[in-house]
This record gives sequence, C-alpha cells and structure tokens, in this order.
Amino acid sequence: MKDDILFLVLPCYNEEETLEDSHRKLSAFLQNMVKDGKISDKSKMLFVDDGSVDRTWEIIAGLSQADNMVEGLKLAHNRGHQVAIYAGIEEASKCADAIITIDVDLQQDINAIPDFMAAFEKGCDVVYGIRNDRKSDGFFKKATASFYYKLMHLVGANIIPNSADYRLLSRKAARALTQYKESNLFIRGIVPDMGFKSDMVYFDVHEREHGKSKYTLHKMLRLAADGITSFSIIPIRLILYFGFLVLLYSIGVIIHDVYVYLMGKTVDGWASLQASIWFFGSVQLVGIGVIGEYIGRIYMESKRRPRYIIDEKTIDADKKEN
Ligand code: UDP
Ligand code: MG
Repeated sequence: MKDDILFLVLPCYNEEETLEDSHRKLSAFLQNMVKDGKISDKSKMLFVDDGSVDRTWEIIAGLSQADNMVEGLKLAHNRGHQVAIYAGIEEASKCADAIITIDVDLQQDINAIPDFMAAFEKGCDVVYGIRNDRKSDGFFKKATASFYYKLMHLVGANIIPNSADYRLLSRKAARALTQYKESNLFIRGIVPDMGFKSDMVYFDVHEREHGKSKYTLHKMLRLAADGITSFSIIPIRLILYFGFLVLLYSIGVIIHDVYVYLMGKTVDGWASLQASIWFFGSVQLVGIGVIGEYIGRIYMESKRRPRYIIDEKTIDADKKEN
C-alpha cells in the first residue's frame, strides 16, 4: 500500500564491481513501485558493508549522497553474510514496515518483490522466497545444498528447503528476531521457529554478473556447522547412543575373554586387541571433538559479545523510532 515503507537490506562484501549496476536496477524498480502506489516514497535500499576491504563503502557512501533512497551501514569487521543481514534488519526495523533481504549481486530475481509485498499486505509477517531451480549453480553447490537440507531435517531444524535469505519480514517479525539473544544467530532456522503467519513466493535465480562468489567453501561449512549446532544436540546424543552400543558389545567381549581364560587359551588375540585400540582411540577423539564443538559455542555465547560493531552509517533511524 501507499504508506508502507519497504526497506531492502543488501549485504555487501567486496562488491565494488556489482554495487552501481545493482543500485541502478533496484532504484528504477523501487521508483516504479512508488509510482504505482505499492510502497511509500520513504522506502529505502539499505546497503550493509560487511567489513569489505575494497571500495565498497566509498561507493555506498557516494550513492547515499546522490540518491535519497540509499542508506548505508558499515560493519567494522567481516562478520559473514548472516550477521550482515541481521545488522541490516535490526537497523531497518526501526522505521520500516516491511523488510526484504536480498543479495546485492541480484542473483535473486527482483521481479518477485511485488509478490512479497502482496503477501505482506494480505497479513503475512514472514514471506519466504523459494528458488525455482538451481540451474545457475554448479554441481558442487547443488549437491552440498541438497545434502545440507537433508542433514538439517535429520537433526530436527525446521528450515524451508530452497529458501535462501531472500525473504520479507514485517516490522513485527523483525523486532521478534532481535529478541533472540544468541550470538550464533542462524536466521534461516529462527525465522520459521518464530511461528508467524507466513507465505511463499517463487523466484528465478540468475548468474552472478560481476565479481566472484564471496561464499567460500570455508564460509559454507561454517554456516552448516552453525546451523546444526544452534538447533540441535543430536550429534552429542548420537555419541551417547553409540557409547551404549559399544558397552553392550564389550560385555559380550568380557564374557568371551573370561571363557577363553578359563579354557586356558589366552595367547592369541593380538590382532583384535590392536584393532580395538586404534578403533576406540579414534572414536573417542571424534566424540570429544563433537562435544568440543558445543563447548566452544557455549564459551563463545557466554561472553555475550556484540554480534557486530557499526563503524559508520548514513542512516539516522534512531530519531525516527516509533
Ligand atoms: N556476503 C557478505 N559477507 C560475506 C560473504 C558474502 O555480506 O562474508 C554477501 C555478498 O556480498 C552477497 C551475498 O552475501 O551480497 C551472497 O554472497 P555470494 O553472492 O558471494 O554467494 P553465492 O550467491 O555465491 O552463494
Ligand atoms: Mg550470489
């Protein structure tokens, strides 16, 4: 509707090649929506610079000078896509009615934005963008993504398959999200967990036009591990179950050993001893490792450190807070 203020939250990490082009497309698109009376003219693009080391912030600052629909938020460090999105949502929730998060490379089709708004106007507080297919992704990304959704499902985290971080949150949902105080924030898992009325919108995925993917394998693995550990203790429980199984088995082994001893045949068995030492040595290390992952996270959470530090921002939403 005419008075709904829409904020697009755009995380940017070393996106100097992408920014201007994306801004041009988005600004034309938003202006059309304003003209058609679909959103308020106070709507904004909020670019969140996730601690880039290239000219990203200079470009964002320049754009915000030239275009009053552009605002920027600069994080002091690279904190990763999820935190950048969160920082943008937190800032935007101060004055936006609806917030859509979308990658700045616009691989996610912007033509879906009016569909998001339509669902929002029907009273949904959360609208998930669901990708139509994964044509533009390579084999590796496709395979890892599908494995990841299966794994998440298995450990009991309720995430919506093929919904990336292209989604709409109402102000109410955004403020609810900011109530989650854990510093390891897995937005994809928390949003369905909040339980608001939701809908889905389907969108196409394009190739990245400029620059390279900023999601390195390392970052992907970290996201996957964070997702699992922040929603489930099943890995720890599996160790316990496995421990019980081994205990049962070892009772059998002890009975067998006593029997063999009584029969006076105790010399052989070197191979099985050797094998069990190695096997259980490694099982224990893996077990300790899994527990360690959790303890590490408890340790990090217990520090209660801020999720991000803002270095600079062009927006002064605090004044408009209502
Ligand atoms: N991004 C970010 N911080 C990071 C990595 C990525 O803010 O540490 C942003 C990036 O600028 C882009 C979005 O997250 O807007 C998605 O990243 P990318 O397009 O590189 O990932 P892909 O589409 O290949 O999964
Ligand atoms: Mg991308």
